[in-house]
Amino acid sequence: MPLIAILPGDGIGPEVTSQARRVLEALGLDLQFEEAPVGGAGYLAAGKPLPDATLALAKRADAVLFGAIGDPRFDALERRLRPEAALLAIRRELGLFANLRPATLFAGLEDASALKPEVVAGLDIVIVRELTGDVYFGEKGHRTTMEGLRQGFDVMSYDEGEVERIARVGFEMAKRRKKKLCSVDKANVLETSQLWRDVVNEMSVQYPDIELTHMYVDNAAMQLVRRPTDFDVIVTGNLFGDILSDQASMCAGSIGMLPSASLSAWSGANGMYEPIHGSAPDIAGQGKANPCAAILSAAMLLRHSLVDEASALRIEAAVAAALAKGARTADLGGSLSTSAMGDAVLTELQ
Ligand code: ATP
Ligand code: MG
Repeated sequence: MPLIAILPGDGIGPEVTSQARRVLEALGLDLQFEEAPVGGAGYLAAGKPLPDATLALAKRADAVLFGAIGDPRFDALERRLRPEAALLAIRRELGLFANLRPATLFAGLEDASALKPEVVAGLDIVIVRELTGDVYFGEKGHRTTMEGLRQGFDVMSYDEGEVERIARVGFEMAKRRKKKLCSVDKANVLETSQLWRDVVNEMSVQYPDIELTHMYVDNAAMQLVRRPTDFDVIVTGNLFGDILSDQASMCAGSIGMLPSASLSAWSGANGMYEPIHGSAPDIAGQGKANPCAAILSAAMLLRHSLVDEASALRIEAAVAAALAKGARTADLGGSLSTSAMGDAVLTELQ
């Protein structure tokens, strides 16, 4: 029986993951759930943001459903004890190298987007961001002083294996969608991007049905605002993906609607699934948070880790149907509580 680790975390994390759990339970699948504290809650329970038992559970599980972490009470702690440290540690321990961020605009929510309704109507794209390489991760960067002038260096690097495994995720994703893959780089100036482009082109012969395009990141940023619905799947590196995925989420509307997945393989392997929003301390404990991002994250969990596309689609259809009937939390201009929104989705699931 598949084991789902639920790590609710801080702030609204527990409020939204409990609704996602209800939805998973209502599917009538043979699933087993186990919860453990993480983030500020982990620090309170065991003196560190990622308690040993929590990490062990995450590793043992078939998939991890994550809430949110961050708690202003712990902002003054040293970095390794702060709630946010848990996220990086789990990513590393589970080998999660691919971050998937769908930006979907559900019908009726066009006004929630930062863009004009007619520009974003029907928006349904996925950004696939590489999560382990590129210019991040400190050991390659350093600071010095040269003739009295302070200098900082960061090293951007990719090897072909790293590009191949993320490109694979992009192609596989496009294969199951509208068969369009846009690879985003800066190959006019960066060596890493030229390698990236070569590797993606070489892989494309294995995917003759996929329409592959390449775009420079500056142009991609512009096109995402101008005609976002032209995209299907975007695959890109860590730094560009960091920026573009936040930009895309604003095209899609409320932060309370957007799920994400972090994968160690395209499918059938352990992964971590979480809303893109944070712990939202300003509304925590008030029962106001929109649980849809967490519920849609559970759908991604079923799709990727449990390879159950049919159940994933059932959840996504239930969310769409609840919204179509007018179910709205406060962030969407409505007045439903977190659990009432969960009820509305459950009703559509039956
Ligand atoms: P982090 O650093 O963890 O990303 P943050 O403060 O930058 O935290 P969020 O916690 O995502 O960002 O909150 C940003 C804003 O969005 C807040 O005003 C919050 O109340 C709102 N918000 C976030 N998630 C939700 C949600 N699920 N439902 C309703 N409002 C939300
Ligand atoms: Mg934030």
